[in-house]
Amino acid sequence: MHLLKEKDKPVVRVLLNAGCCPRCVLRFCCVGLQSTYRQSYKDLMKELTDFARECNKPNAETEEENDPPCKKMKLEETEDFVESDKNGTVTKPTQECPTVQKDEPKTCVVCLGVLQHFCDKDFAKKMSRVVESANYQFSSLVISVSLPAQLSVREHAAWLLVKQEVGQQDFSSGKDDVIQIKEAYKWIIHPLISEELGVPVDGKSPFEVSVAFTHSETDGDCHFLASICSTCFKPAKNKQSVFTRMAVIKALEKIKEEDFRKQFSCPPNSPETKCDVQDIQCLHAPLYVAGRYNKYSRTLPQTPWVIDGERKMESSVEELISEPLLAVFRAGGLNFSSSGREDVDVRTLGNGRPFAIELLNPHRATFTKEEIKNLQQTINKSSDKIKVRDLQIVTREAMVHMKEGEEGKTKCYNALIWTEKAIKTSDIEFINNIKEFKIDQKTPLRVLHRRPLAVRPRIIHTMRAEFLDEHHFRLYLKTQAGTYIKEFVHGDFGRTKPNLCNLMSTVTDILELDVESVDVDWPPAIED
Ligand code: ZN
Repeated sequence: MHLLKEKDKPVVRVLLNAGCCPRCVLRFCCVGLQSTYRQSYKDLMKELTDFARECNKPNAETEEENDPPCKKMKLEETEDFVESDKNGTVTKPTQECPTVQKDEPKTCVVCLGVLQHFCDKDFAKKMSRVVESANYQFSSLVISVSLPAQLSVREHAAWLLVKQEVGQQDFSSGKDDVIQIKEAYKWIIHPLISEELGVPVDGKSPFEVSVAFTHSETDGDCHFLASICSTCFKPAKNKQSVFTRMAVIKALEKIKEEDFRKQFSCPPNSPETKCDVQDIQCLHAPLYVAGRYNKYSRTLPQTPWVIDGERKMESSVEELISEPLLAVFRAGGLNFSSSGREDVDVRTLGNGRPFAIELLNPHRATFTKEEIKNLQQTINKSSDKIKVRDLQIVTREAMVHMKEGEEGKTKCYNALIWTEKAIKTSDIEFINNIKEFKIDQKTPLRVLHRRPLAVRPRIIHTMRAEFLDEHHFRLYLKTQAGTYIKEFVHGDFGRTKPNLCNLMSTVTDILELDVESVDVDWPPAIED
C-alpha cells in the first residue's frame, strides 16, 4: 500500500480491528486518489492487512507466527470491550495486528456495508436496469446518494476512537479531512454506471438518479442525541423522522466528546445486517415551454374551473394547450402561468397573451424546432376555441421576462358598451380627447374572495369611442396592465372612481370585451 505512510499504520490497525472495511480505512487515512477505492474489495483488504502486519518492531517474525490466535483473542476482547464501554469502562488500546477476514466480509461498523456491497459492477448493473426501465431520454446523469443519518454518528465514534488510540501527534488530520462516505461511494460507482449506461456522469446534468440506503437495525443509534441537544431535532413537514442527516450533524458538532463517549460505544458495535436499498429513483429537471395564445370563445375559462370538485366548464385554455404537451414530453405534471388573465367571457385577440408552462419530470427532453412547430400545429388543430403561436422551449431564467415590469406594461381592449340614456354621436365624441386618465380601483367585489382589499391607482392611456346606435357604442381602450375594465365601465358600486358612468352622466354597462393586445415582448416571435 504505497499510498499509506508509516504514520498511517496505527490508524489502519485500530480501524481494521474495530471492524471497519478497507475503504473506510482509506477514508480515515485521507487517501484522495480515486482509483485506490476502485480496487476490488478482496485486494484492498489483503493490501491493508499486509500493511498493518508489517511490523516495525524487532520481534516482528515471532509476532507474525503467533498471529492467528492473537487476532482472534483480540477481536473477542474488542467485542467485550464494546459491551463494557456502555457502562462507562475506559477503552483499551487496540493497536494489535488485525485478523484476516474471511470470504464474506463482516458488515463494516461505519459505512454499514455501503462501501462493501453496493459499489461493485453487479450493483451498477442493477441500478442501470432500474434507470433503463424508467424510460427517460437523457445524455448524461447525476447520481445522488442518501445515507442513513446514523452513519454520521458511527463516523464520529470511529473518529474519536482513532483520536484516542493513535493520539493527536500521529493523527494530525482534522475530521474535515476524512474523505466522506458519499464522495468515496461516487468515486467507485460513477465510472461503473457510466459504462453501463453509456453516458457521462455530470454534476450539472438535469437527469438525476437517486439511491437511498436505510438500515433499520441501527436506527436507534441517533436517539441519544435528542436528549443532549433537543433543539437540534424539531419535527418538520415532509420528514418522517426528526433524525435527519443535517440535524444529526448539527448535534454532533455541539456534543462534548466525553458526553458522546459515555452514551455511544467507540468503536461502534458490529451490525448483524447490511444496509437496504430503499429506493432507486429517477427525476428529470423541469422543462419550460412558452408561447402566446388567442382565445376565441366566451365560454372558456383560462384555467380548469372546478368548484367543490364539480367542473363548471368542460375545458380551459390551460388544458387545451397542455394536454398535447404532457403527452409528447411524457411529463408527470405541469404549472401554467401567463401574463395576466382574461375572464371566461372575454376573448383574447391580436397577437395573443404570453404564457409559459413548466413541465415536471419530463421523460423526453430534446426536441428540434421542427418538432415544436408540429406540436403547435397539433394544438391548433385540436380546437377552434384557441390558437397558439411562437411556441418554443425556454430557460427557467427567461420566464421572469413574462412577469417582470408587468405593472408598467400596457394592454389594449375593445368593449361593447350599453347606455341607459339615449345617445347621439356628439355625446361620445368628447371621449376621444381623454388622455392619461387616472382612476382609483378598489379591489372588485367579484375577485374580493381571492385578492386582498386595496385601492390601486391605474391609468387609462387613451380612449376612443365609435357610435353604433342610440344605446350602444364601441369603446377602444389602451390601459396600464392590471386595470379592471368591466369595473371602469359600470363603476362597481362606486368602487372604481371616476368611472364611465361618471363621464357619461348615465348608467353604462359592458356587454362584450375583447383583449386586443398584451404588450409584453416575450417570448420572442417565431417566423412561420
Ligand atoms: Zn466501511
